[in-house]
Amino acid sequence: MNIDFNKNNDGLVPAIIQDFVTRQVLMLGYMNKEAYEKTVETGKATFFSRTKDRLWTKGEESGNFLNVVSIKNDCDSDSLLIKVKPVGPTCHKGTDTCWDEVNEQSFGFLSELESVITSRRVNANSEKSYVASLFEKGINKIAQKVGEEAVEIVIEAKDDNEELFLNEGADLLFHYLILLQAKGYTLKDIVKILEGRHK
Ligand code: AMP
Ligand code: ZN
Ligand code: ZN
Ligand code: ZN
Repeated sequence: MNIDFNKNNDGLVPAIIQDFVTRQVLMLGYMNKEAYEKTVETGKATFFSRTKDRLWTKGEESGNFLNVVSIKNDCDSDSLLIKVKPVGPTCHKGTDTCWDEVNEQSFGFLSELESVITSRRVNANSEKSYVASLFEKGINKIAQKVGEEAVEIVIEAKDDNEELFLNEGADLLFHYLILLQAKGYTLKDIVKILEGRHK
């Protein structure tokens, strides 16, 4: 890889460390040529520590190594994106990331929707909220609703009305998220099973 270590005249390039699975950004470090080569050689992210003024393998004391999955150069070869599997919390303060964030998988808008569903379940006000009213009716009713939406998608699959087919899919997924929560689970539990089958 052709890395431009001398853009800042200090022999260092910033390396963004990202969790390979969750895609959360874990930390930022700097590498010189030696640190980069050691990283490639050992498969453990190694930086040039400006504080320690020496090579520093993350985890050398704590055991919380960053096992490297892939390394990418950016568009103009002056920064690295390194995907890792972290052994433990990445920050020396004990948090998952150096920005005090929890390193968990996010499913984008679906995760946001799950949070909304949670808040309707917790602050149930069934007069205003359809979701709250479903939780009030209980698991059997919610499961039945999932069944109905599944039947509707079967019907729409036979036809070729794109809008109806896609909307029934959205209905099914939405009610399935509610059923999962009613049973005390989340989308993450399902994704874990799918990932497990993939191996
Ligand atoms: P470790 O590499 O985890 O064994 O930690 C050794 C030392 O490196 C710590 O005591 C901190 O001084 C420093 N350190 C560890 N993790 C980080 C980090 N994510 N960012 C900056 N410094 C760190
Ligand atoms: Zn760049
Ligand atoms: Zn930190
Ligand atoms: Zn429907």
